Amino acid sequence: MGTTSPTRDPNVVATNLRQQGLRATSARITLILGLGELGHATPEQLHSALTPTHPGLNVSTVYRTLESLTDLGLVAHAHLTGSAPSYYLTDGTEHAHLVCQDCGTITPLRGEALQRFVAELATDPGFAVTISHLSVQGHCQNCRTKTTTTKTTTTQPTTTQRSSPITRRPS
Ligand SMILES: [Zn+2]
Ligand SMILES: [Zn+2]
Repeated sequence: MGTTSPTRDPNVVATNLRQQGLRATSARITLILGLGELGHATPEQLHSALTPTHPGLNVSTVYRTLESLTDLGLVAHAHLTGSAPSYYLTDGTEHAHLVCQDCGTITPLRGEALQRFVAELATDPGFAVTISHLSVQGHCQNCRTKTTTTKTTTTQPTTTQRSSPITRRPS
């Protein structure tokens, strides 16, 4: 959503790696494509998402490859869920993360509101924010809508009672 969608073509990924003077190993290509698909994922999430199509891929390879891709600056991680770090493809611009505490959805946060917040903290109290490690916990629009719907349902008995004259038996 929003930014240019990552490629799904292994050949394009391989070419990009080689153009940067990097080895285009199948593990690197697989993980770059996987992260392009998932957006943000822990090593375990990546592994279970990729196993059906890449049965030979083991967890330690996932960890090792993510580490080398991080060293190369192609991948970054943020601590979003309290457990394992979530990895994502770097795209040249830093972003913060909105983390839904209900469904776990991670939304990248860019743009003016973030820049204003960061600029304000830089002035007072003079704090330089590491944007890529900034995460905001809360509830996504989807989950908030669900909650509202539930609330409406719980208040329905009162409504039914009030409208009960309608259902009274004709005398
Ligand atoms: Zn949610
Ligand atoms: Zn991110």
